[in-house]
Amino acid sequence: MLEHKTFAQPGSDPYKIYLAEDEIPTAYYNVRADMQTAHAPILHPGTLQPVELADLEPVFCTELAKQELNTTDRFIDIPGSVMDFYRMYRPSPLVRAYCLEKALGTPAKIYYKYEGGNTSGSHKLNSAIAQAFYAKEQGLAGITTETGAGQWGTALSMACVYFGLDLEVFMVKSSFEQKPYRKTIMQTYGASITASPSDTTAVGRKMLEDYPNSVGSLGTAISEAVEAAVSSGGTKRYTLGSVLNQVLIHQSIIGLEAKAALAKLDVYPDVVIGCAGGGSNLGGLMAPFMADRLAGRAAPYFIAVEPASCPSLTRGRFAYDFCDTGMVTPLAKMYTLGHAFMPSPSHAGGLRYHGMSPILSQLYHDGLLNEARAVEQNEVFEAALQFARSEGTLPAPESAHAIRATIDEALKCKESGEEKTILFGLTGNGLLDLSAYEQHLNGTMSDRIPTDEDLERGFATIPSLPGIQ
Ligand SMILES: *Cc1c(COP(=O)(O)O)cnc(C)c1O
Repeated sequence: MLEHKTFAQPGSDPYKIYLAEDEIPTAYYNVRADMQTAHAPILHPGTLQPVELADLEPVFCTELAKQELNTTDRFIDIPGSVMDFYRMYRPSPLVRAYCLEKALGTPAKIYYKYEGGNTSGSHKLNSAIAQAFYAKEQGLAGITTETGAGQWGTALSMACVYFGLDLEVFMVKSSFEQKPYRKTIMQTYGASITASPSDTTAVGRKMLEDYPNSVGSLGTAISEAVEAAVSSGGTKRYTLGSVLNQVLIHQSIIGLEAKAALAKLDVYPDVVIGCAGGGSNLGGLMAPFMADRLAGRAAPYFIAVEPASCPSLTRGRFAYDFCDTGMVTPLAKMYTLGHAFMPSPSHAGGLRYHGMSPILSQLYHDGLLNEARAVEQNEVFEAALQFARSEGTLPAPESAHAIRATIDEALKCKESGEEKTILFGLTGNGLLDLSAYEQHLNGTMSDRIPTDEDLERGFATIPSLPGIQ
């Protein structure tokens, strides 16, 4: 007979806290309004002057371009149609990881905010639906984007079909060929997908002429998606799923909900942990807690976790760099490995980005985001397995980076006897990442950590800007 195990004692916290639908926040929080040190301005790649609304408008929807530059509005109302869509899959649950705590034997209290319950499988839907809404509101016919691992394209296809917008996704050719299920989901939601490099853009044709066998790169796919938008006669705009200030604004819904749910239990986190690719989920999760820190109301300890194979925060330089490999985007001051740095293939595709959100970069530079930590792929998957086997949910490889750091912090508490409260972001589920799990299970997973020389080659591509850096 099975032993009956229950960890929650009568009167203690429940396993899951769901806000009621009418408790979902109705405004996004813009942390820039409270930052004492603003991030350095984004520069136009041609003039090297700070970008203005008019520079951004041919590429982004006007409302999103405004959000990108907004340093003053602390709260930005969430449009009603976006709220309606959120109500279909939000609030997302805040879960007390009783079973993991028990497995670790830790006195720490562990909570996670789970964003993987929607069909796209990650938090990216939170920004996708907002970006699609503003495009629709502006009367556009459609939007363009690129996708590497496929999560962003999937989220955006769900969002675009809801508002009846065309979506053109440039998918890195290697992923296009290796991730057939991602392609099928996007097509199910009506997106048109083009393997990049393609012959539908000048940039793509040039690439194919020079390198007929190219399997593509995110940089090329971005360049193609931007070209497709800019040459659409004003009917389309380009969208991006991370890094940008607007995306961090939309993702603040994660932190606002988490904070409201914790408040119901009278709990406040001592430690807040998130994985960091371009910085959007961590930026969103920590935003309202950072607000407390900036106002001197509380001092939670923030940890960003990145892959050792792509260590932008832990080993990168804080400098102006292009946001893409193709050098078509503006320059942002951020932690970067150099726009031409090519991280080795990794199963956490969502964390393979050479740079980092300018907001997160500035907060890290100022010591407000306390710590960045790089972790290796095998230890990440060990944590993923331990989590899956105790908590039930199969985590996305990206999210498992945050789990690794959470487990390590909880084990430190076991040593010291401290009862810290840890909150981490479980950004997605791993159902479309089974080949990664398979490699971990059969022992064929490898990890390539860049040497100092590899990094120097990347740093050499950071532009030197006379008078600026
Ligand atoms: C894209 C992605 C990430 C990383 O992106 P951020 O902008 O750093 O949040 C993390 N987890 C999942 C599941 C993703 O799809």
